[in-house]
Amino acid sequence: MSIIRIIRKDSGTKARLGILSLPHGEVETPAFMPVGTNGTVKGIYHDTIRKIGYNLILANTYHMYLRPGTEVLESFGGLHGFAAWDGNILTDSGGFQVFSLSGLRKIRDAGVTFQSHIDGSKHVFTPEKVVDIQSVIGSDIAMTLDVCTPPGIEHRNAKEAWRVTKLWAERSIEERNRLGERFRGNLFGIVQGNFYEDLRKESAETISAMDFPGVAIGGLSVGEEKHQFEDMLAYTAQYVTEEKPRYVMGIGSPDYILSAVENGIDLFDCVLATRMARNGGLFTDDGVIALKKAAYRFDHGPVQEGCGCTLCREYSRAYMHHLIKCNEMLGGMLATEHNLQYLYDLMKRVRQAIREDRFREFKEAYLRRFYAGKQG
Ligand SMILES: [Zn+2]
Repeated sequence: MSIIRIIRKDSGTKARLGILSLPHGEVETPAFMPVGTNGTVKGIYHDTIRKIGYNLILANTYHMYLRPGTEVLESFGGLHGFAAWDGNILTDSGGFQVFSLSGLRKIRDAGVTFQSHIDGSKHVFTPEKVVDIQSVIGSDIAMTLDVCTPPGIEHRNAKEAWRVTKLWAERSIEERNRLGERFRGNLFGIVQGNFYEDLRKESAETISAMDFPGVAIGGLSVGEEKHQFEDMLAYTAQYVTEEKPRYVMGIGSPDYILSAVENGIDLFDCVLATRMARNGGLFTDDGVIALKKAAYRFDHGPVQEGCGCTLCREYSRAYMHHLIKCNEMLGGMLATEHNLQYLYDLMKRVRQAIREDRFREFKEAYLRRFYAGKQG
């Protein structure tokens, strides 16, 4: 039985409305997931995340493994107990961090050897070990170790990366099955194939057919042009099973989110909303505004009319401009809450549009205003 129940499909696009059942409660989809790299979403209380409505956040396996380490997590019965978060947690496999953050690394069929970005110490991730770490974390959704590749590589290198990703996916399933009851979450497979259609198709069909309760599309939003992202997402998504939840990793701006929803994607995550917030970049219906700019010095209005976050309810754009200019911690905290509230509300509007079978009209009207906005 699938862990996602689809309750409505949009007739004009592939967008779909669903309910995802996870060990720590249900999640309405399509859903955005805030990223809590170190077991905390930077600059916001868990309580506030909960109050906004989020019930699924992301943590990074790579970071949790290096600090605090699995022994500490084990002594707390996992990350839920350690971080006092009783909602769902999705953990990535660490593959992306190994390829983007760590120094010297070597990929063999057995696994990947890498250096910690913190102290340069040497470590090995095998697909089995990554499943074991996520079992200790207690992830509600866990990901398989995969080989991420940048855009622009040759076909034979992309093919080799996919060969290893597939081998690791098979071994991840074996390890999950070996752990049995000790593995309580849902292990998702990851589609790769770089920007080559033949590899993407094969990867999407192969991962879809394997014994995974969910499928992630990886290797997108890795520095390619926006049209490349959209084309490859649409191309890949058509070969991913509709029976399981579908997740696209690393997207978090409204335009990318709407593209993903249009292609029937149910889940996405990104650090963009929270990282941008700490630099004074705030989402509004009129685009992203940069509150650092002098234009906001005397602006008495709220960041976004109608937004229910603390910042928009209680403070002006001018005060927020001041906090950001002075590098005050409160500025980053208020901005983070706003951006997460904004994306949560956006997803509510998206789900309502699908429910009323008018997603395409919603997307077009939303983007027209978003792009026409001040953008700064
Ligand atoms: Zn707000």
